[in-house]
Amino acid sequence: MTGKPHVIVIGAGIIGASIAWHLTRKGAAVTVVSEALGGVATPCSFAWINASWGNPEFYFHFRHRAMAEWKRLAQELPGLPLSWCGGLCWDMPPVDLETYADVHGRWGYGIRRLDRAQCALLEPGLSEYPDFAVHVAEEGAVEPVAAARLLLADAEAHGAKVITATVNGLLQAGGRIVGAVTSQGILEADHVVLAAGAGAVPLATSVGVTLPLSTPAGLIVHSRPVSKRLNGLVMTPRLHMRQTAEGRIIAGSDFGGGDPGQDHQASAAELFARVKAMFIDNADLKLDFFTVGYRPTPADGFPIIGNAGLPGLYAAVMHSGVTLAVLAGEAVAGELLSGRTDESLAPFRLQRFAQTQ
Ligand SMILES: Cc1cc2nc3c(=O)[nH]c(=O)nc-3n(C[C@H](O)[C@H](O)[C@H](O)COP(=O)(O)OP(=O)(O)OC[C@H]3O[C@@H](n4cnc5c(N)ncnc54)[C@H](O)[C@@H]3O)c2cc1C
Repeated sequence: MTGKPHVIVIGAGIIGASIAWHLTRKGAAVTVVSEALGGVATPCSFAWINASWGNPEFYFHFRHRAMAEWKRLAQELPGLPLSWCGGLCWDMPPVDLETYADVHGRWGYGIRRLDRAQCALLEPGLSEYPDFAVHVAEEGAVEPVAAARLLLADAEAHGAKVITATVNGLLQAGGRIVGAVTSQGILEADHVVLAAGAGAVPLATSVGVTLPLSTPAGLIVHSRPVSKRLNGLVMTPRLHMRQTAEGRIIAGSDFGGGDPGQDHQASAAELFARVKAMFIDNADLKLDFFTVGYRPTPADGFPIIGNAGLPGLYAAVMHSGVTLAVLAGEAVAGELLSGRTDESLAPFRLQRFAQTQ
C-alpha cells in the first residue's frame, strides 16, 4: 500500500464518529458516509457510561477500560459533553445488590455501599429512598449526539471527508470489498467499515455476510429543561434517570428504555408520571418529548468488532455503544492501520457465531 490508506466509514452515530476520529488522528484518509449525522440509535440513547452489573468478568474489564478511554479522549478533544456524575443504584433486591457490590468491588469497580441517610444526602431531591443502595462515583454519562458531532467536526478539521448520502451497496473486486455504492456515486477504498448500527445488517447481507443482530425497542422520556434536580444517575427498580447537560430529566423503565407497547404516547405518559412521582419538587416537571430507539444488539449481547468475513470489510456494531465508543474507535483504527491483531477484541469477532452453529 502506498500513501495513506483510504478508509470508508459507513455510519455517523457515536461508533462511526469515534472510528473516523481515531483513524484520522492515526493518519488515514477517511471518508464518512452516512444518512444521519449523529446517528439513529445514538439520539435515542440513555447514554450511561458504565461497567455495571449483569456481565461476565471479561466484559466488565472491557467496559471498565472503555470508561477510562472516555477520560483519555476528554484530554485530547476538549469540549466533550461528559459528566462524571456517578451512579446511585438500587434496581434489584438487596441480596443481589450485595452480591453485585461484592463481586464488582473485587474486580476493581469503585463501588460503595450506602444506607438510607447517605442516599438522601447524595440525592436530596428524591421522594423515596431505599434502605440499601450502591454508588459508583466513576460512572457518568455523555450527551451522545453532541459528542458524535464534535468527533466528526474535529475529524473533518483534520482532513476527513463527511458525506451525507445513502450507501446502497458494497463494491467487490477479486473477492475483496473495495468500496461503496452511494447515492452520491461510487467510492473506492482500502477498507470499508460498517459502523451503521442496525443499517449494517442489510449491507452485510448484500455481500453474503450475516450479522446476527436484534433491535429491541426502548422508550425514553425527556422533560422540559428544569433547574438542577439530580446530582447523578439514579437507577431504581421502576426507572433509571439522569439530568442532561441541557437540564432535562430523561428516564426509561431501565437504561435501555422499556417496551413502548402499542400506544407509545400512553406508555410515555405513564412512564413520565412515575418520573414525576420520584421528585419532591415536581410542579414544573413537564414531559417535552419521548424517543423510541432500536438498540443494535448482537445475538449474544457482546459487540461485533473485526473483519466481517470478506477481505476489506470490517464491522463495528454493538449495544452499549455509548460506553464502548471510544475504546472501539481506538481499537478499530489501531487494527486497520497497523495490520496487527488486537487480542482484547478476540471475544468480539463475528466468526464466533459461525463456531456455535
Ligand atoms: C433506548 C436506548 C438506550 C440506550 N442506553 C444506553 C446506555 O445507557 N449506555 C450505552 O452505552 N448504550 C446505550 N444504548 C446503546 C447505544 O446507544 C448504541 O449502542 C449506540 O448508539 C450505537 O451507535 P451506532 O453509531 O453504532 O449506531 P447509530 O446511532 O444507529 O448510527 C448508525 C449510523 O449509520 C447510518 N446508516 C445506516 N445505514 C446506512 C446506509 N445504508 N447508508 C448510509 N448511512 C447509513 C445512520 O444514518 C447512522 O448515522 C442505548 C440505546 C437505546 C436505543
